[in-house]
Amino acid sequence: MADILEVKNLKTYFITKEMTVKAVDNVSFTIRQGETFALVGESGCGKSATCRSILRLIHKPGKIVDGHILYKGKELTALSQKEMRQIRGKEIAMIFQEPMTALNPVLTIGEQIFEAFGDQKMSKKEKTERAIELLHMVGIPRPETRIKEYPHQFSGGMRQRAMIAIALAAKPQLLLADEPTTALDVTIQDQIINLLNDLKAKLGMSILLITHDLGVVAQMCDRVAVMYAGHVVEIADTLTLFSSPRHPYTYGLLSSLPTGHEKERLIPIPGSPPDLANPPQGCPFAPRCRFAEDRCREELPALSEISPDHLTRCHFPEKLSEVKSFVEGGR
Ligand code: ADP
Ligand code: MG
Repeated sequence: MADILEVKNLKTYFITKEMTVKAVDNVSFTIRQGETFALVGESGCGKSATCRSILRLIHKPGKIVDGHILYKGKELTALSQKEMRQIRGKEIAMIFQEPMTALNPVLTIGEQIFEAFGDQKMSKKEKTERAIELLHMVGIPRPETRIKEYPHQFSGGMRQRAMIAIALAAKPQLLLADEPTTALDVTIQDQIINLLNDLKAKLGMSILLITHDLGVVAQMCDRVAVMYAGHVVEIADTLTLFSSPRHPYTYGLLSSLPTGHEKERLIPIPGSPPDLANPPQGCPFAPRCRFAEDRCREELPALSEISPDHLTRCHFPEKLSEVKSFVEGGR
């Protein structure tokens, strides 16, 4: 499968007189045509900064200081903001955790969809029909009436659906979804996940899904990159990542994931992520890693392939190879 997006050695830093926060530090991954690709990791590890960098939505004091972002081979980091506007929304759209930040409170949902059509040549009647169709597609009941309503007249789950409809209006080929279900309760969360899965199948678009929740990854993603302290520490297809993690941080995340078993014991990862303004030398996970040796505290491991399509940034990935499968055997 061809790649739709390639992120290569991306560095996005927040730079002030006092300090430099290395939010994204040498991140590389690719998203293939038609797949759902997850970025997972604890809060503060650089997921949103990576996502916003792709659309060049990093504001001061943030800056992309190095690296490449190739969309269908086109270098996005070299485009002007004017050229980026041709990409944003039309080729690559984004949805957020909190729909109210993306929705305009003084415009009806219909007007916001019309705006998102951009310069597509359509009559008023065609626009209305297409907007109703979009609301119907994202599962909003009675779209003919709801198109005339304002965001505050929608419930949380319906707002999320409306934001997705707006994002899809210009038929983007890549959807960036930054924690789209985090603010929702579990039932609505499942509905939105099912909706995204349906839309992906129907529209054939690729999705970059950002989440801190591995349960969500299991439900909808083809491949996964795990981020820790501004670095990608492991990349694999979802089944491989869940059944044979090869980075101790991934292993830790999986061990703290509820399985639904009655007698399960959740094992949280001890400690907390490092300060990105002052990261430790060597592997940033070493202070929390029960497998760490001297080498880990001295030298940052490279992200290297341990089997086809499975990469890890660990000096001792074989230490995890004896750990039982999470998918079949439990723990
Ligand atoms: P995540 O989405 O994984 O929770 P973020 O990408 O939001 O993480 O943040 C990564 C790091 O960048 C964090 O340490 C955060 O404090 C820092 N950061 C984000 N935005 C800013 C900003 N505007 N100024 C300074 N630091 C920031
Ligand atoms: Mg975030």
